[in-house]
Parts: sequence; structure tokens; C-alpha cells
Amino acid sequence: MAAWRRADSASIDRAIGGKSRRTPTREASVSRMRIADIRERSLAISRHGDPSLPSGGLTTSIVALVTDVVRSGARVIGYGFASIGRYAQGGLIRERFAPRLLAMSDLADASGNSLDPFCAARAMLAGEKPGGHGERCVAIGTLDMALWDAAAKIAGLPLYRFLAARLGRKVAEPPATLPVYAGGGYYYPRDDVARLADEIARLRDGGYTRVKIKIGSAPLKEDLRRIEAAQRRLDAPGCLAVDAMNAYGPEASRAAAEALAPLGLWWFEDVCDPLDFATLADTALRYEGPIAAGEALFSLAEAKLLDRHGGLRRDRDILLFDPVHCYGLPGYLQILEYLEGAGWPRRAFWPHGGHLFTLHVATALGLGGAEVNPLCFQPLAGLGDGETPRNGRATLPEAPGIGFETKAEAFALFRSLLE
Ligand code: MG
Repeated sequence: MAAWRRADSASIDRAIGGKSRRTPTREASVSRMRIADIRERSLAISRHGDPSLPSGGLTTSIVALVTDVVRSGARVIGYGFASIGRYAQGGLIRERFAPRLLAMSDLADASGNSLDPFCAARAMLAGEKPGGHGERCVAIGTLDMALWDAAAKIAGLPLYRFLAARLGRKVAEPPATLPVYAGGGYYYPRDDVARLADEIARLRDGGYTRVKIKIGSAPLKEDLRRIEAAQRRLDAPGCLAVDAMNAYGPEASRAAAEALAPLGLWWFEDVCDPLDFATLADTALRYEGPIAAGEALFSLAEAKLLDRHGGLRRDRDILLFDPVHCYGLPGYLQILEYLEGAGWPRRAFWPHGGHLFTLHVATALGLGGAEVNPLCFQPLAGLGDGETPRNGRATLPEAPGIGFETKAEAFALFRSLLE
């Protein structure tokens, strides 16, 4: 019996804060599949298009997951990274989660035709206690991204088609394009407003009709100047979102809500500390426009608290949970299914991350749209090389897997793990 079948599913469900998706029992082992090798490296990643600008020492993890499956004469290799905004997870990957994957004698799905990332997620969580989500969920999500890449490649499908089929969802033919917006607008150390305006103009000229910029780290008066400069560069009103990066306490959030209310923003994101539900609920009472939250909540248990105590409104507010940071896609699906059951529409979900993986997820799951980071967090974030949105909507690569192979610099980084 494979090790994962011996795993105590109930204790794994308790650790992740919900119920893990069950895999049908395979009647006969058509073919076994396992992970033969996992390579991992931490690397610096910049919030700016110009990586010489300071980025607070931000890092991420990249992984290459070598399967024992051969397609077209070559081993299938899945690639993943830790999304953006959290630091590299090398220690947790090396010491806990990669060894558990490597120990699995069989990760084939019920059909025997591909890997089963749900089974892999249960294997990675074996023995983990409830709560204390910390950043172990990011380490698991990093490997989970590579597992989905490998699984879709084994099936010979782009991830969004593989995922839709795995979840019993239909994909429109020809596939619908996905609404996207450009994330960016970080503070520049010098000439901030002028450089921000140039950045927004560049994004607009690159096909992005909607953009998100940062606020909250400067006095409100300065942030209002940033907002005005950005709005002037966009073609239509209501296309600018602002992200306060969890900066405001109760009083500052009230002042910001009052100042931002007349500006017709697309949304007001990450108002206060992610767990300060009292301040968030107070803001939702005072600020009529859409509020976006959930980017820094990484488990179903925390998502339930946000829904119960954050005062968010199902008719307008936005949920930003990052599928990589929430224990990977299996954890994200738990959050989506719970909140949908609680009355949230799928159009409210706009996953954080800004890279191809989240675009596949949003397309397959029929979510509202997704962030794209076309300039910052390179070369891992953004669309495939040469791809630009049309009328604010992006098309996904049809290459098998996530399609990092369509991004030359990102692919070279992943391949360097194997040297
Ligand atoms: Mg944010």
C-alpha cells in the first residue's frame, strides 16, 4: 500500500483547517509515478522594474521537481516558485516537505494517467499539527505549483485545461480570455510621483486598462498626489485600485477612507493588519466603494474569521487569497468552496500573485480575474514573452503545464537548478 493511503486523513484535515479533497481509490495500478529528485534555490527578487532599486532584501524560492515519467523521450519536470511578497522557503522545503514527497512510492492519480497533486498535498501535511500556519503553507504551495506543472505536462495539457478537467469544469471553446490588471506602483526612492506616472503610462501602453498602486507608506497628502498622477494616466475613471499594504491602524484607516471615498477607486486593498478585523469592519461601514482583503491570510481557518468578523460585503468586495500561499491549490480550493457556500460569488475572487500559475487557476475556476505583474518581480511574474492583454484581458499559453517555457529568462532560471 502506498504511504499516502496509510496517512491519517483526519489529522491532515485538522492541520490545514478544513477537509482535504479525497482521491478515488485506484482499482489497479496502471502505472506508478513518483518524484525522483527535487532541486531548490533561494533568489533575490525585486519589487521594481529596475532591480537596482532597493527591495528590502526580498527573496523567493524556485523549485524543479523531476518525475520518473518520460514524455517525448525526456523526463517530465515541474517548475514552481513561492509566488511573490513572502521570502524564500528553502529551509522548510529542504527539511520537511521535499523529503516527504520523495518518500512517496506512488503519486499517480486514480486513472494512472498523471500525478495527483491532492495526494501529494496530503503527503506533505502528514504529521503537521493544526494552527501555526506561519509560512509552512508557502513552502507547501511552492512545491504544489511544480506538482501541477508536472501533472499537466504528463497529461499533455495547459494547466487551465488540465485543472478544469480534474475538477469537472467546462472550458469555453475557444477559451475565454481572462480579465487582468497590472500590479505595481511601488514607491520610488527619488522623483516618486513623476516615475510613478511614467510607470502607469507604460502599463497603459502595454494593454493594461486597470492598474493597482501602493499607498500607506507616506503621509496621506503625498499618497493623494500619487493617486491623482496615476488616475490621470489611465484612459477611464474607476480603473485604479490602491493597496495600503496593511499599513493603517484604526485612526489612520478612518482618515484614509474619508479621503479616498470621493475618488472613485476600483478598490481599496489591504487596509490594516490582516487580522485586525475590527478595523476592517469599521472601514467597511465608512467606505462605500469596494474593499479588497485576504492576501495575507493563508488558511481556511483564517478565511472563515475574515468572513465572520471583517464586515466584508458580498455584493462588491474583493477576495485576494493567493493560491500559492494558501497551502497551494488544494488549500485555495477549500477556501473557495467554503466562501462560495457562504454566499460569495466567484467573481469576487481575484488571486494575488501576478504570474502565469494564478492566471491558469483563475481561468479554470471561473474567477473574477487575476493580477499580473508585468514589470516587477521579474523574470518570474507576468505573461509569456511578447504577450500583452487586449482590452484588459489576457490569453494563456497553450503549452503543456503552466507555460514557464514561454518566458525565456524564467525558464533559464529554472533550468539552472538542474545543472
Ligand atoms: Mg496587497
